[in-house]
Amino acid sequence: MSAFCDVYVDIAVEATDRSYTYALPENINISVGTRVLVPFGNRQVEGIVMALKDEAGIDIKKVKSIIRPLEPYPILLPHIIELAKEIAAKSHSPLSQVLRLMAPAQIRKGRIKPKKLKAARILLQGEDFFKAREQQSRAPQRELLMDLLSDGEAHLIKDLKMLVANPMPGLKKLEEMGIVQVFEQEVYRNPLPYTVEKTEDPVLTPRQEEALSEIVPALKSGKGAFLLHGVTGSGKTEVYIRAVKYALKLNKTAIVLVPEIVLTPQIVSWFMSRFGDVAAVLHSGLSAGERYDEWRRLRLGDAKVAIGARSAVFAPLNNLGVIIVDEEHEQTYISESKPNYDAREVALSRAEREGAVLLLASATPSIVSFAKARRGDYMLLEMPDRVNLRPLPKVHIVDMRDELRLGNTGMFSNLLIEKLDSCIQNGKQAMLFVNRRGYAPSVVCRKCGERLHCKQCDVALTYHSMDRKMHCHYCGFEEPFPKVCPSCGSKYLKTCGAGTQKVEEEIHRLFPNVKTVRLDIDTTRGKDGHRKQLNLFRSGEARIMIGTQMIAKGLDFPQVTLVGAVLADLSLNLPDYRSSERTFQLLTQVAGRAGRGEDPGEVVIQTYKPEHYAIQAAKSQDFRSFFDKEFNRRKRDLYPPFTLIVRILCTADTQQKAREISGNMFARFREELKKRPLWQKRVLFYREDDAPIKRIQGKYRAQLFIKAVDHSDTKSMIGFLNALAQEEQPDGSTELEINPATLF
Ligand code: ADP
Ligand code: ZN
Ligand code: ZN
Repeated sequence: MSAFCDVYVDIAVEATDRSYTYALPENINISVGTRVLVPFGNRQVEGIVMALKDEAGIDIKKVKSIIRPLEPYPILLPHIIELAKEIAAKSHSPLSQVLRLMAPAQIRKGRIKPKKLKAARILLQGEDFFKAREQQSRAPQRELLMDLLSDGEAHLIKDLKMLVANPMPGLKKLEEMGIVQVFEQEVYRNPLPYTVEKTEDPVLTPRQEEALSEIVPALKSGKGAFLLHGVTGSGKTEVYIRAVKYALKLNKTAIVLVPEIVLTPQIVSWFMSRFGDVAAVLHSGLSAGERYDEWRRLRLGDAKVAIGARSAVFAPLNNLGVIIVDEEHEQTYISESKPNYDAREVALSRAEREGAVLLLASATPSIVSFAKARRGDYMLLEMPDRVNLRPLPKVHIVDMRDELRLGNTGMFSNLLIEKLDSCIQNGKQAMLFVNRRGYAPSVVCRKCGERLHCKQCDVALTYHSMDRKMHCHYCGFEEPFPKVCPSCGSKYLKTCGAGTQKVEEEIHRLFPNVKTVRLDIDTTRGKDGHRKQLNLFRSGEARIMIGTQMIAKGLDFPQVTLVGAVLADLSLNLPDYRSSERTFQLLTQVAGRAGRGEDPGEVVIQTYKPEHYAIQAAKSQDFRSFFDKEFNRRKRDLYPPFTLIVRILCTADTQQKAREISGNMFARFREELKKRPLWQKRVLFYREDDAPIKRIQGKYRAQLFIKAVDHSDTKSMIGFLNALAQEEQPDGSTELEINPATLF
């Protein structure tokens, strides 16, 4: 047994980002990955045992001993620790900070304890049992209790209560007689508020068979990475389910990542209905206790399938067979706060490390993933048809400029109104996609042209009709709708544009008898917010669903035959090189909600830019042609995946200060670059300027922005920039971002 160990203390700052040597008390057996309590300075802190060793390597007199282990088992498995080290190195983050990702906070802080309930168990068997039972013949309740317990299993008292009124006195008596044992049994908290019925496997479609015929051998050999490109409604979920089933049959485990659990309740309930107790969900919507128990069920091997958002990629599973990433194009897979990581990359690394298969899937794969598949990093699997050869929806593009010319100044084109009308007449359902929540995205003074701005941020305030207030969607600031223009005092303030609330109001005006549901952050707060809204629509009571991009993800409502995108262009105008990609994905995904049942679907996309290639590709739902155009554009204009975008975001209380910091970063980088011919070859350009949004929450933002070729030569450059960004700023702060998910 080793006498010493290396411990990483749970203090996530650069200064303590190394391991410390502690002595192991003689009588306890501790393995790598165990959480321990250790003396640190003059306090006690939690830490993780990272390695065991025979020699202290430092003066023994200085070595303190660990106080005690916090759990009887290691909470981090060895391969997870390796993964953490890799992420720390890649994201330039302290390892102790990365280790925090690997176990839920509830575990780390030790606030939650296992839940225990009273249970009873029989102690006798065979002849002894029957003899003892005979003794109770005058006490029918005790006799009954013995019968109920006769299977030898532990039974919760609360379950026994359903069959026997007030069982405790009887059990106590039996315990005194040495027949029964009453004890505290640990139970897991159940995060699902509803019970799901078990359902049977459907017969696979030929396309699903084909995809699985590639995946199954890979599961057996423990090697393989796939990109499944399957059109909306092609039945990708069933492929996931079968792949997971197969992994379980091989006695392996599985991780299923979804973009955001609350937005994808269907996939969770489908998994639950097919896997029951073997599946566990991990997400932030769970209570602390539920999260703790779901995590422990996985760690202790009671659950073998982890379903969750991004961080479930770290699920504590042994013997991993497959990691599935649903809707792999979603931005939510990139963690934007430190430590930054891309769950897809982590999944690939973890799969390779542990002999598991990676399955990325989407109807609209990201440009980067599809490019990798073309290059051969992933094997491409395609499902070009919908289940039962149902047709893809027919997409109409409406040029809103023509509508204006025809004198229609409303937010709906004549075509969309016509289609909505007949959809409702036919007893079907419709979905309307609106890119903004609230009532009106901006309010403008008709006299002086002033747009109402947030006092804290450089963004327009959104008018919400529910509370008649102006809201900032960046900082949460709100104020009453002003009576007069704050700049010129004029009374003529006008709302511009349409958010979900306004669209809903307009629908009520046009179709006064039709019940609607609205799905946006404002209507779905609370634990069950989403489920309530979705159930209202699923039951058929509500006929039109109005929602933000929330409704684009994975929803499967067979009665929906019409989808309208009220204004497709908003996402095209974002200052980001991915705006075309995002627009195409969003439109294709929302369009994909139509015609998933018996009746074919139709889609109306309203736009001011009908000729744009993202809109055109969404019309034909032709991913390949979009990919080719976008890939060539990025190659030509030097954008990722061909290049690396790095920025140091500088924030401060005044604009002058923010610009001063970014100016300083710029100058330091320029000086260093002069000395580094290898970097010079790779840097395409760099500049210093204000960030696209100049101020958020009262902080001014400026940036050093660099575009470079992604090459091993640039590694040292990122190291330099990271060190630069780590420097203390007396009155501001800096942050390094590498290919960030958003560039505002
Ligand atoms: P995708 O995720 O590819 O958009 P889904 O997995 O939501 O598609 O499947 C679309 C619909 O087809 C769902 O209602 C699903 O239950 C159904 N489905 C999937 N596979 C089959 C099958 N083999 N037989 C019958 N129905 C299926
Ligand atoms: Zn004004
Ligand atoms: Zn604000």
